[in-house]
Order: sequence, then structure tokens, then C-alpha cells
Amino acid sequence: MRLMDRVYLVGSGEFGLSHDFDCNIYVIDEGNGLIMVDSGAGFGVDEVMDNLSRDGLTKPIRWLLLTHAHADHAGGAHAFRQRFQCMVIAGEPEAAVIERGEEKELGLDVAKRSGFYSPDYVFSPCKIDLPVSHGDVLQLGSLSVTALNVRGHSPGSICYFCEIAGNKVLFTGDVVFAKGVIGLLNYEGSSLSEYRQYLPLLRGLGVDVLLPGHGIFVLTKGQRHIDLACARLERLQIPPNFI
Ligand SMILES: [Zn+2]
Repeated sequence: MRLMDRVYLVGSGEFGLSHDFDCNIYVIDEGNGLIMVDSGAGFGVDEVMDNLSRDGLTKPIRWLLLTHAHADHAGGAHAFRQRFQCMVIAGEPEAAVIERGEEKELGLDVAKRSGFYSPDYVFSPCKIDLPVSHGDVLQLGSLSVTALNVRGHSPGSICYFCEIAGNKVLFTGDVVFAKGVIGLLNYEGSSLSEYRQYLPLLRGLGVDVLLPGHGIFVLTKGQRHIDLACARLERLQIPPNFI
């Protein structure tokens, strides 16, 4: 589904585009190849491939940017890496977690108990070709992408910031969502105090297009939604949560 010039939503459980377990999966057409942002959980890979061809996206996926290690975002990475030999990129603090793929370390044991995955779901570990740190600038073909390590949802959560067709675009994973919602989990690695400390890193970016890992996307004035969450955290309020 085309969202704007060069940017597509190609998978999502919530939008009925792919398997129920899948987060929002985005693709940027870089010109010579595709950049995928998050991979879904792995059960929806064939549906994602169908969506790519339906949108006329026949170029190879050359890069896969993972926002964090959670299974609904990184569980399909191995399958896409096998299929396209794409370069898989993830935040340095969680790269080894994705490579090991251990349930407890991924929080998958609690997520299964909470009903987010079926008991038979298995995470496929994936090699991370390029671990990134806060402030790293990636040159992906013609596109320059800045990695921002915004802790709070998880230690290695990376937001990817770039300019596409004159629009400032931010992929936020589970860090922040439309309407000032945050992704605070009752699980190790997720921290309200880190939200207070790190979410302000997303202040002042002038984001036009906000593309989160779940729920609706925002095509203009995206910064307002981020600033709303920041403003709540500056007061006594806990922003509304995504689950
Ligand atoms: Zn997550």
C-alpha cells in the first residue's frame, strides 16, 4: 500500500496486510533497491512478498533496518536475509539478542503468556551485518538515514530518520505512536525513567511523516504527536500506552 512518494506499507497484522503477529512493515524504494523497515514475526513473509509485487516493487531488498529485537519486528529478518542476501541493520545494544534468539532474552516467554503469540511460535535468530549506535548516519544507496537510539521501550530501540521527497520521515518502531502514545512494557528493559530521559531526543526534528511499528501512521505534522508524548512526560502524567 503506497503511503507517499517512494514509501509503502507492505505488511501489518492490524491493517490485515499480513500475519496477525506482524508489526507494520514499511518499504522505501531507494531507486536501485528497496529498504525494508522491520520484518514482522516471520509467519507473514509470503504475504509481504505478495504485497510487494502487487505494489510493483520488484527490485531486491538490499537493506533491512530493524527498530528493535522484539519478535513481531525482528522474527522475519532471517527469512528476508536468506531470500535477498540483504544487509541487516539493528541497534548495537540488541544485535546479539537477535543473533542468539533466546526466548527469555527477547521477552517472548512473557509475550506468549500474555497472548501475543501462539505457544508454537519460534523466533528465527538472524545475523546482524551492521550494528548501529546513536547518531550513526547510514548511506543506503541515494538515501541518508540517521539512527537515533531512543531507550524506553527497549535498550536498543532505534528510530530511523531520513528525508524522502522533501518530507522528514521518522520510523519509530515501538518508541512512540500517533497521538502521543508510548510503548512502555511491564518487562525488563522497558523503563519509564528512560522514556523521560531519552524521548526528548526526538524533539525539534520537524518530523512530517511519522511511521510507527503499530497503529495508524501520520503523513503530515508528525512532530506534534511526538511532542505530545514529550509534554506529558514533562508533567506528572504517564502517556497512554500501546497495549
Ligand atoms: Zn516492541
